[in-house]
Amino acid sequence: MVKDEITLMYDLHSHTTASDGGLTPEQLVQRAQRMGVTVLAITDHDSVAGLAAAQAEIQRAGLALCLINGVEISTLWQDMEIHLLGLKLQTGQPLLEHLLAQQRDSRYQRAQLIAARLEKANITNTLPDALEYAAGGAITRAHFARVLLQRGCADSYAGVFKKYLARGKTGYVPPQWCTMAQAITAIHQAQGVAVLAHPGRYKLTAKWLKRLITQFADEGGDGLEVAQCQQAPGERNQLARYAIQSGLMASQGSDFHQPCPWIELGRNLWLPAGVEPVWRDWR
Ligand code: AMP
Ligand code: MN
Ligand code: MN
Ligand code: MN
Repeated sequence: MVKDEITLMYDLHSHTTASDGGLTPEQLVQRAQRMGVTVLAITDHDSVAGLAAAQAEIQRAGLALCLINGVEISTLWQDMEIHLLGLKLQTGQPLLEHLLAQQRDSRYQRAQLIAARLEKANITNTLPDALEYAAGGAITRAHFARVLLQRGCADSYAGVFKKYLARGKTGYVPPQWCTMAQAITAIHQAQGVAVLAHPGRYKLTAKWLKRLITQFADEGGDGLEVAQCQQAPGERNQLARYAIQSGLMASQGSDFHQPCPWIELGRNLWLPAGVEPVWRDWR
């Protein structure tokens, strides 16, 4: 007898109001279903606070959507900010919870310093406004970007980063993140899969990108985010080759933050032939 095969659509990278996403967890899962996603990972910055509400909404509304518990952890490697995804986590694991609490504490301390630096540039009292945008979630530079945009400091979101929040600019404060090894250990202790997020976005030369991927694999990393919604031509196939060469599995995700013309849940996500998908052993 031939079993009916359901085609699954995986999007394993997305954000909610638990960090810098624009949609609540409830709104995000509703949108994922509308966009044809069947397996969605919510991966907020240094927080798993959106997961319970997302799962409750899936149940309440009877959505045909499988939620993967995820997180996006900011790490420092060679003085660069590298993001690792933890996928299929068991929540409530002490090491991961402790690490995420520390990271959010670092975020809060950095936010205070960002506000102090902006103060010197005569942009006053930004912390309360940024915290209001964060609404109790993990505070990020994206929240400061909204404040600065609202105050007319630049004419676009990207412009605000370029002028104030990017590395080396007035409001930039070097962050105190954990190491890749610490993040991988905590993800593994929570039974999760560690994935190197958006490798193409770090502006690394091929030599440095290979170095990063090699060290990530050597430290026990499991997968590479090979497919994203928007990528340079050839990047996806190149990353697939790196994944195969380094013995890493491959993941795909939109990194959806809020509705916009360029990025959408589930859009343009597929893996080149020959890679091992991170979901290979998922039931
Ligand atoms: P943080 O983790 O606090 O450093 O904040 C980084 C977040 O800000 C990222 O996850 C993006 O959502 C956003 N971001 C960073 N750089 C840019 C940029 N150039 N344009 C738009 N958003 C950005
Ligand atoms: Mn973000
Ligand atoms: Mn990221
Ligand atoms: Mn992200």
